[in-house]
Order: sequence, then structure tokens, then C-alpha cells
Amino acid sequence: MHNAPQILLIEDDPQIRRFLRASLTADDYRLYEAETAKDGLAQAAARQPDLIVLDLGLPDADGLEVIRQVRSWSQLPIIVLSARGQERNKIEALDAGADDFVGKPFAVGELIARIRAALRRSAVVKSGAEGSIFRAGRIDVDLDKRLVLVGGEEVHLTPIEFKLLRTLIRHTGRVITQRQLLGEVWGPNHTEQAQYLRVYMAQLRRKLEQDPARPKHLLTEPGVGYRLVAE
Ligand code: CA
Repeated sequence: MHNAPQILLIEDDPQIRRFLRASLTADDYRLYEAETAKDGLAQAAARQPDLIVLDLGLPDADGLEVIRQVRSWSQLPIIVLSARGQERNKIEALDAGADDFVGKPFAVGELIARIRAALRRSAVVKSGAEGSIFRAGRIDVDLDKRLVLVGGEEVHLTPIEFKLLRTLIRHTGRVITQRQLLGEVWGPNHTEQAQYLRVYMAQLRRKLEQDPARPKHLLTEPGVGYRLVAE
């Protein structure tokens, strides 16, 4: 299996490693393991894996430090495993450059789905094949023409609404923190204005979702941010 995606798992809990080793190798991934931040960083540099699964609570350093160091030389996808209720850590990890997180205890099926989505995104980014057309259910967006259709009918978006949608589309499938969205749409001086986001997300949902109270595409990640889901 020389084409199998290579995953580096940085996790000090032997039970979780054993469990993931069984599931990921059965799913044709090639797995490397590290128990410490130091060994994880060394293996990341030496092996250049396709993706890292990272526990935040490591014996020798904070997982956040691993994210920052990897991000100083690589954009490879990083999925964080975080214990339940540690919303603040999740946000810090995403702001530091992690692509996604899965809360512990987790279902391995969910983790594998996130891994697949992250690998797909990074393949698209690498190939430069990001199209200007985005489609999600009844929503069609032509990013070049700034044209938005819902069920074939043109919908008018304000410039800010369009910018917000475009930013979400650029991160399709991954969670994006409030701070990241505010920074990208409104600028670095507005990263604390969470109320802007609430107002504009509600407007976007009203215009794009069939049932804005039960959105299918413009999802809230409670306490963390938002996620645009295409399928
Ligand atoms: Ca741990």
C-alpha cells in the first residue's frame, strides 16, 4: 500500500493509540506514532506525513506548541483530539492553525470522516484546483461573478454577506472560529465583535437555508465558531 495516506498520531494515551492503530490501519492508512511533543515534532519533520492527529494534553509540552511549530514550516492538515468541555482549548488550537477537532471520547467513524475531509481539502489546495463554482444542496455560488442562486433563483447578498459566505466556502467542511471569521471578513480590529457574526449568519441563513432555524449547510459549532457543510 505505497499510496496509503500517512498519518502521524501524537498521543500519550496507549489505549487510544492501540484503538486508532487498529482502526486506521484496517482502513488502509499508514500510521506513525509518537508519545511526546518532542518525538512528534521530530517525526513530523522527518516523515512529512499527509496529516497529523494530535492530542492536546501531552506529557512534555502543550499540543498547541506542536501546532505552532508545525505551522512555521508546513500547512499539512492537523486534527486535534480534545477532552470534553475544553472549548477554550479547541478555539486556541484552531486559532493556532489546527484544521479541525474531535472531542474525546470520540467515535472512530467520525474521526475517519474528518481525516478524509481534511485530506481531500489539502489535495484540492495542493493541485490548485479550487474552482470558482461552489455547490451545496440547492445553493449555487459563482465566486468570480459574485452570483448566488438558491433553487435556481438569484438571491441578492450585501457585500459583507457575500464576503462572509466566500470565507466560509474557502474553509468548506472545516470549523472556523469566530475570531478567524471576524478577522477575515471585518478585519483584524474587529475580532471581538461576535455580535456582527450572529447578525450576519442569521441573515445568510434566512437567504440561503430552506429552514433557517434548522440549517443544513451554515452550521454553528457551539462555543467555537461555524462550519459550512456542502453535502
Ligand atoms: Ca494526553
